[in-house]
Amino acid sequence: MSAAVLAGPPAAQALLDQARARAAQLPRRPELHVIRLGDDPASLSYVSLKEKKALEVGLGSTVHALPETTSEAELLGLIERLNADPAVSGLLVQLPLPEGIDSGRVLDAVSPDKDVDGFHPVNVGRLWSGAPALPPCTPAGVVALLDHYGLPIAGQRAVIVGRSNIVGKPLAALLLARDATVTLAHSRTPDLSDLTRQAELLVVAVGQAHLITAEMVRPGATVIDVGVNRVGLSKSGKARLAGDVHPDAAEVAAALTPVPGGVGPMTVAQLIMNTVLAAERLQAGEGPQ
Ligand code: NDP
Repeated sequence: MSAAVLAGPPAAQALLDQARARAAQLPRRPELHVIRLGDDPASLSYVSLKEKKALEVGLGSTVHALPETTSEAELLGLIERLNADPAVSGLLVQLPLPEGIDSGRVLDAVSPDKDVDGFHPVNVGRLWSGAPALPPCTPAGVVALLDHYGLPIAGQRAVIVGRSNIVGKPLAALLLARDATVTLAHSRTPDLSDLTRQAELLVVAVGQAHLITAEMVRPGATVIDVGVNRVGLSKSGKARLAGDVHPDAAEVAAALTPVPGGVGPMTVAQLIMNTVLAAERLQAGEGPQ
């Protein structure tokens, strides 16, 4: 048996198409604002990808590129202005921030109704309590990927390996809300393979190349590999990437995401969808502007 490949790009494109269609229904164009400090090359490329995708689906996109020397007070002042500006639908501050700036304080300053990264404590609380939240992009992207391929969530025995605030924990809330029975595993979980072998839906977000081997996968399971690990260089000098799941798992699983080209493209597509969601709610007057 060889697992079906759950390719990210078509699922991401479907999500972007939905975002475009919903944005077109709104009285005002959704606007994504990204604040970036300094010139860290990885941040620059993430921000330009977000801008490209926003423009592709007809959203407005503004990048506030500030010098590395910007003070926390200046940054908080800009966030306050953008929070109060009714034309701004989604607002995110690209991490990492320069040393000396308290990232937690900065992220908490973003209005929860515009917090398209879904990291604000108010959104975390809304997510867990079942209130309308802006969900974190990677886990919501995983759910969108499962939905795109028609894979069941309700009633599934789901095991998530990894309990970070950006992937594992919010994914647990999302799968629970969709009636899966969820177990969260982590570095202190004893007998990890006993647990993973029970999973009908196995999601791995650890950051260790090939941690999950074929023997750890239940035959017929759906396996979602969130991990992105650099494992040397290709002949052309580009970083070679590997997931947290060993490729041999494809012999056991019924469906498996590739790395790269699986979950990765879903994250930015979900960010665009979150911007549209935020705009819909703000324009319907459901949230403070
Ligand atoms: P973190 O480092 O924040 O969390 C890793 C989690 O894995 C922790 O909960 C840790 O447990 C757990 N863990 C570590 N070692 C083991 C082990 N041997 N057995 C079981 N659990 C273990 O990582 P992130 O959640 O931020 O990211 C995880 C991976 O996903 C990374 O490879 C990252 O690059 C990738 N990623 C990909 C994204 C995408 O868009 N495709 C987006 C975000 C992340 P403990 O809590 O006990 O320390």
